[in-house]
Amino acid sequence: MRSEPSDVTDPALETVRRGQPTPGSVDRRGPGADEGLADPTGTDRRQRHELWMRRALEVAVTGEVASPEGGGGSAVPGGSAALGGGDAVSADPGQSGDVPVGAVLYGPDGSELAIGRNERELTGDPTAHAEVLALRRAAERLGRWRLDGCTLVVTLEPCTMCAGALVLARVSTVVFGAWEPKTGAAGSLWDVLRDRRLNHRPEVYGGILEAENAAVLRAFFR
Ligand SMILES: [Zn+2]
Repeated sequence: MRSEPSDVTDPALETVRRGQPTPGSVDRRGPGADEGLADPTGTDRRQRHELWMRRALEVAVTGEVASPEGGGGSAVPGGSAALGGGDAVSADPGQSGDVPVGAVLYGPDGSELAIGRNERELTGDPTAHAEVLALRRAAERLGRWRLDGCTLVVTLEPCTMCAGALVLARVSTVVFGAWEPKTGAAGSLWDVLRDRRLNHRPEVYGGILEAENAAVLRAFFR
């Protein structure tokens, strides 16, 4: 059994504010650390998060759900180009009426394990949120439910269900894009991910590429 995060009893967590990383996260090794990306200033980490967020945004916009082979990079030809302008993007490629939310699960080594796009309307499944689908696919691929060391990147602040699932899966880091003041459970309405009563709390980084992510959602609801 792996030990839980060292900051479980860290009183500094009381001071966590919206948009700020969990205290202590700066010194912790995580995804990318073995690639020389670990950086006390957080600059490289921020760049990595933005790079991963662009991939999640691509998943949200293209609706591509095929699992990538070999990890990393884009499995969607032209997908990145389509992200040039949020307003011009067709945010519902399948015309299913699903809100365009994309998620990508990265392994401890930074490899892409699984992706998910919100498919609630497409599948008629109330639990088919992007994060849950990515967690399921990653767990299936790895053959275990425990996803410690992994990073979940999602374009919109997770809801209570997804935040709960991320905690249960022992995901180490959660990176999200746009804030969701109406249902967000990562700092907006609740903060399930950093609830001190829970025995696992991921590091949380919110508001990554917030403008781009918000633009895609606005274009969809327009
Ligand atoms: Zn959700």
